[in-house]
Parts: sequence; structure tokens; C-alpha cells
Amino acid sequence: MLKKPTSAYVHIPFCTQICYYCDFSKVFIKNQPVDDYLEALIREIKAYEIRDLRTLYIGGGTPTAITARQLDYLLSHLTEQINLDMLEEFTIEANPGDLTEDKIAVLKDSAVNRVSLGVQTFNDRHLKQIGRSHNEAQIYSTIDSLKTAGFHNISIDLIYALPRQTMADVEENVKKALALDIPHLSLYSLILEHHTVFMNKMRRGKLNLPTEDLEAEMFEYIIQQMEANGFEHYEISNFTKPGFESRHNLMYWDNDEYFGCGAGASGYINGMRYRNRGPIQHYLKAIRETNHARLSEEVLTKNEQMEEEFFLGLRKKSGVSVKRFEQKFGLSFDDQYGQVVKELRAEGLLSEDKDFIRMTKKGLFLGDTVAEKFILG
Ligand code: SF4
Repeated sequence: MLKKPTSAYVHIPFCTQICYYCDFSKVFIKNQPVDDYLEALIREIKAYEIRDLRTLYIGGGTPTAITARQLDYLLSHLTEQINLDMLEEFTIEANPGDLTEDKIAVLKDSAVNRVSLGVQTFNDRHLKQIGRSHNEAQIYSTIDSLKTAGFHNISIDLIYALPRQTMADVEENVKKALALDIPHLSLYSLILEHHTVFMNKMRRGKLNLPTEDLEAEMFEYIIQQMEANGFEHYEISNFTKPGFESRHNLMYWDNDEYFGCGAGASGYINGMRYRNRGPIQHYLKAIRETNHARLSEEVLTKNEQMEEEFFLGLRKKSGVSVKRFEQKFGLSFDDQYGQVVKELRAEGLLSEDKDFIRMTKKGLFLGDTVAEKFILG
């Protein structure tokens, strides 16, 4: 009997704006068949017989772009399926400005216990330049409303190394983020993705990005400030007060399996990584006809699974557990990776203590370059 995943990701692909840097699976919400989509989503979840979940994550897109009534439909039908006694963390992503009082009331009435807000920056000028529709004042009012409603497990996303952003801008963002008095922050550097407005601008030489050196300085500043203010740097881009790590995201970095539901969502079950159809109409049709919408399926070889264990696991401050590796793959860690670890340790990029292999600070700044050494060729 195969073990069923105890985590699920649910995708809501609608947005009220299309940001200039975004390559996620999403569409502008106007005139979209949202009700049909939510119905199909619940059908897909039922078909997987998802019941005993430890973590559930509704992401997007913008889950809070749908109406309060639709949100209520989604959350109540989801919770009907799930064994709430087992559910430790239930996150929903939201954008400042989208969370009206009636939507917050729906969240409050549901099993959601964590809210992740796409703040990105506090600077109104920069918010406009990256295509966001909220402003600084809305960030504060949304967080106030959430706290008043009793939500304290709140996380925000911030992006640094934005076009024309200076070190002083980053300092101001970090200061304002700390003043929110919330227990979790994710800070990502801007990544240029294909088929985005920003990539086009870049090609035309019109995107004034900070240099790599400045970007590294920003990262260093962020780490230093967050740690000085009681946050643990528990993953390359994530910071937490004790006990507020994102359990769902830790599941990804632990290379565990999960259900992925919704248009364009990815999942990982029974050693198979899959991706669902992206365009809404294709997704709806597939669910109508077959109850699932998987477009691509890839069964990973043992070597690929081992590589992923490192690619994902080294992102965590705690690193990769040798014992867990040996139990999971049934082979000697030393035979497999002893030499690579020795070399990377000699270069000061990895450290090893007790049972764990982890990145040093120097290794963290190189990120994937270190993880790539674990590719088995
Ligand atoms: S960044 Fe978020 S809100 Fe903006 S377009 Fe992408 S999914 Fe939508």
C-alpha cells in the first residue's frame, strides 16, 4: 500500500492585476468562469480522495481575488473533505487591498490559520513600477484587519533588487517590515522570467537593475537585520520567529510528496511529478471528462530523487539529514556523495555536523552552484 501525501497545494489562477515580473500560472479575473472553476477544483480534490492532511496551502494567482461568496464556497467544500484534527497548518495567499472585511470574515469562519500576503515593497512608486495595484496604506490596513480578526500567523513576501532600487530603499523596506510585528517574512531577489513585461524591457535595455554586487550586499544586509531582530534564517529566502516556520514549505524542501490541484498546479505523488493543464478551459474540460487534468507526468529515477533531496534540502539552514537519506534510499551516503561533500567542505561551502550536511554562509550566497554538484550525471 502506497503512502498518501499529507500535504496539498490548491491553485486559484485569478488575479485582479498582472504584475510585470510574474510568470505564474494566472489570468486576469474579469469574465472568467470562476464558479465553474471552483466546482471543478472540488471535483479534482474529491477524485484524489484527499482526507488526512497535515498542511494545506491555497496559492495563486490571488486566492482572495474571488468574491467572499466564492471564497466561502471553496473553503467550506475543502474543509468538508478534510480531517481537521490532523490539519496543522492551513495557509491562504492574499494581496493587500483584496482582503475586504467580508472576505476576512469568511477566513475567520474557516479552518485557515495562516495568511501569506504579497506585499513586495512598501514604496508606492516601486509598487506601481512592478505592476501591483495596492499601496503602502493598504498593507497596514490589511494587516490591522487580519490581526483584529485574530490572525497572528501572518507572513509577507518582499522582493529586493527591483529596478532602480537602492540600498536605502531596501533598508526602509526592512525597517517597515519589522515594524509590522509579524512572525514570518520571505524575501526574494527579483528573478527575470521569460514572457514577462520586465523581460521585454530588459531586452530593450530599459530595466535598470541593481548590479550583482549590490544585490549581494542587499541580501547580506537583510540577513543581518533579520537575525539581529530575533528571526531565524531557516531557508535561503525565509525568516521566522521561533515556531512559525512554514510547515507546508518545509515539506517541499524536505522533498516530500504532495497533491497539487487546480489549473497549472504541480504535484508529486507515488514518485511521480506531474503538472496540470494550465489554460482554464482545458482544465475544466479535462476535469469534466476524466476527473483529473494532468498534462505531464514524470516518474523520477532513484538518482533524480537523490539529486532533488539535495537541491531542495540544502536550501534549509538545517540542511540534509544523512540518516534520513540512507533510510529513504537504502544506500550508503558516503559511497554516494562522500567525495563531493569532502571537496565542498574543503572549499568552505558545506559544513557537516552530527547527522546533517548544510551550506555555510559562503555556500548560501552561491546557492544552486553548490547544489548542482550533487547531480549524478
Ligand atoms: S505576482 Fe501574484 S498577483 Fe501579480 S500577477 Fe503574479 S500571481 Fe498575480
